[in-house]
Amino acid sequence: MSSRSLGLSQEVYSYLLQNSLRDTKACRDLREATETMDYADMQVSPEQGQFMALLVSLLDVKKAIEVGTFTGYSALCVAQALPEDGVLIACDISEEWTSIGKQHWEAAGVAHKIDLRIGPALDTLEALQAQAGSFDLGFIDADKVNYRQYYERILGLLRSGGLLLIDNVLWGGSVADERDQEDSTRAIRALNAHIHADQRVDISMLPVGDGLTLVRKR
Ligand code: CA
Repeated sequence: MSSRSLGLSQEVYSYLLQNSLRDTKACRDLREATETMDYADMQVSPEQGQFMALLVSLLDVKKAIEVGTFTGYSALCVAQALPEDGVLIACDISEEWTSIGKQHWEAAGVAHKIDLRIGPALDTLEALQAQAGSFDLGFIDADKVNYRQYYERILGLLRSGGLLLIDNVLWGGSVADERDQEDSTRAIRALNAHIHADQRVDISMLPVGDGLTLVRKR
């Protein structure tokens, strides 16, 4: 969840896309390749991908990391905005899903900027601890029960002033429904509360996509 922003009528959402989306062929092709798949809802929405690309430019990001690559749409958007010597470390457990991304990264001419690491992300993040304090941007969009651990580890990897983006923080609205005690919902709720009180960071929670929290490391 979700391949479009929460709470907008179809009419307004269409208007938003028609009047702001600057698409590349690579982005369109990858969305089309993913939309008929199972779990297609896990793909980042086009307006969110564009927003992430803008943040990459605004922050002059050279070194980024994401946890949860799926079929590679967010990675494509970020890599297209990175400078030629920029790198995105992309973490996922699925060869099958990321192989779709790889084809489209190649076609877009950005594959050389993406360092794909297949395996449990907590292991990959642990192995990167020697590079603590050197990343400009992080993105968390993977299994929700591990969100808190991803948050702590990526926060450690970021430089001061670096930005961490956390996806699905509204979880289809279920975080606001106390009757929902499902593991993923509880994990997201707990992380949201933790971040709200975390004095190591400046924050903003936005209703973009399925809810996106921006966390700036102080
Ligand atoms: Ca997501």
